[in-house]
Amino acid sequence: MSDWAVRALRLRRAYRTAAGTVRAIDSIDLEIPTGQRLAIVGPSGCGKSTLLSVIGCLEHADGGTLEVLGTDVASLGEEQRARWRRQNAGFVFQAYDLVPFLTATENVALQSGISERDNGVSPREMLAKLGLAGHQDKLPDQLSGGQKQRVGIARCLIHRPALVLADEPTGGLDTVTSRSVVDLLLEATAEIGATTIVVTHDPAVASRFERIVSLRDGHVVADSGADLAGAERAHA
Ligand code: ADP
Ligand code: MG
Repeated sequence: MSDWAVRALRLRRAYRTAAGTVRAIDSIDLEIPTGQRLAIVGPSGCGKSTLLSVIGCLEHADGGTLEVLGTDVASLGEEQRARWRRQNAGFVFQAYDLVPFLTATENVALQSGISERDNGVSPREMLAKLGLAGHQDKLPDQLSGGQKQRVGIARCLIHRPALVLADEPTGGLDTVTSRSVVDLLLEATAEIGATTIVVTHDPAVASRFERIVSLRDGHVVADSGADLAGAERAHA
């Protein structure tokens, strides 16, 4: 297995709009060692979600090179990208994105069917493990925000993805709940050794991560782990 989960070089992604071209990601270099957990921060519109989507193969870059988990994902076609995502990536979203007419267990089971991978842990067990014993048969509407995000995390982790991508996972939660959701995310991703990228604009959330990458206008403007990455490369 490669030492690097992500190697992006001069990565670009632009959107053409009526008002002109928006360079959402404008030449980003980013290397993430396997198993690292990092936070991406920056003002609204700086390209955080776009970067996460490109790394997670939800969108493709339109310039530069991108290797994720040893695969040159830029060269994959639409269907191959979808397969790659199912096998390798887990997503957590700010708005939870649960299917409203399915129970917590069914929401997680749906994902485990999609990923076609048996983790050996049932959706019910996974939910219990994440603190939702007794809530497995509830609909999303019957759960609090923090509980819904625990379901979101269970759904993300049910197939033990090598890469976990979370976009503002605590954006809808109060401070105390946010803290416990981050605790859970850190614990659960450590257990499976998943490389984890969390987008947040909450400094309290970002400070929990071993590395913080700051974006502005589609560029990396600060990276607490840049030296570390360079040092590891020197040893490689
Ligand atoms: P962030 O997540 O940091 O708030 P985004 O990655 O969502 O930023 O967006 C970066 C820039 O790209 C913004 O200017 C945004 O308006 C633009 N953008 C994002 N997605 C699209 C899209 N699908 N079409 C047009 N512009 C987009
Ligand atoms: Mg965003």
